[in-house]
Amino acid sequence: MKTFQWIVDKGVDNLGTCPQISQAAHFLQQNEVVAFPTETVYGLGANAKSDEAVQKIYEAKGRPSDNPLIVHIASKDQLEEIVADIPKQAQQLMDAFWPGPLTIIFYKKDGVLSEKVTAGLNTVAVRMPDHPVALSLIRCAGLPIAAPSANRSGKPSPTTAKHVWNDLNGRIAGLIDGGETGVGVESTVVDCTGSVVQILRPGGITKEQLEEVVGKVEVDPTLKTGMGTPKSPGMKYAHYAPDAPLFLLDGDREWIQQWIHDKRNEGLKVGVLTTEEHVADYKADVVLACGQREDLATVAASLYDTLRTFDESGVDMIVSEVFPTEGVGLAIMNRLLKAASYQYLKQEE
Ligand code: AMP
Ligand code: MG
Repeated sequence: MKTFQWIVDKGVDNLGTCPQISQAAHFLQQNEVVAFPTETVYGLGANAKSDEAVQKIYEAKGRPSDNPLIVHIASKDQLEEIVADIPKQAQQLMDAFWPGPLTIIFYKKDGVLSEKVTAGLNTVAVRMPDHPVALSLIRCAGLPIAAPSANRSGKPSPTTAKHVWNDLNGRIAGLIDGGETGVGVESTVVDCTGSVVQILRPGGITKEQLEEVVGKVEVDPTLKTGMGTPKSPGMKYAHYAPDAPLFLLDGDREWIQQWIHDKRNEGLKVGVLTTEEHVADYKADVVLACGQREDLATVAASLYDTLRTFDESGVDMIVSEVFPTEGVGLAIMNRLLKAASYQYLKQEE
């Protein structure tokens, strides 16, 4: 299949009337899949009402069919069309954070969306993205758009059009290149169907931000250890993984350097994921700075690009420093733990 590419400047006025967006929206109406930028990562969109269209997402990504998709909307009217009711806490969170990197789980209205979107659940995950290209595309298509991240299943999510191209060229009908995404990690997924709001996947909106709006917020306890069955089906799968095995090392730089030294003595080519503050402190085959530890938003923004850069460098293994789990650090550590298949080593006291 030929993959069309459209380049769109997200800063221009009247995006809704630009021919690239109209053409991409037309593809969506024809039940084809189109990748597009959002403020978190690139999404792979399809008409959420069509089995045929949604099936193409699963096929292009190689995604397990029991992992449901997030439905993207551009207006609150679209929400009422697809959900059975809107709990009070969900309304408060929507008012505070939409459009933005927050996905909310609702009970779904029956018979509106393709069953493949929700993978047989009676709930649906919905989000309104805060990106002019995404919003214009959804409005122009006039449809709710199912859109997981636009990567091959298991790989790090794409934060540039080039990442999407590398993974999906020839497997999808189109790709809108709207430049780099901003947040860099996916949306926070929250379940508002119970009495206490629960984070099923940490992401761009932090636990602290949510608590300011709705008070107490819980985190699905399975996320810390990788043990047990997470409430969000997708969280059970290996994810975000670079080609080389990744190890998280929780200790001081001397200890980490000694560990690297030992592995290199075994003949292994070692990559190090650190930040600008520490990049000069390590000696290894490849040392990459992923943002600044002082500003974790910059680490989130560069994380997936850094993991993909290791793939190109041909290292045998990657070691990464760990990060505090406050603010967006919770999402960063969640993604790193999954990328590392929970291989976490702590220095002895
Ligand atoms: P992705 O589309 O790759 O950003 O992943 C979407 C995440 O949302 C996955 O972890 C899904 O399992 C999760 N998700 C989607 N729909 C639901 C739902 N109805 N209930 C719980 N989790 C969901
Ligand atoms: Mg994904």
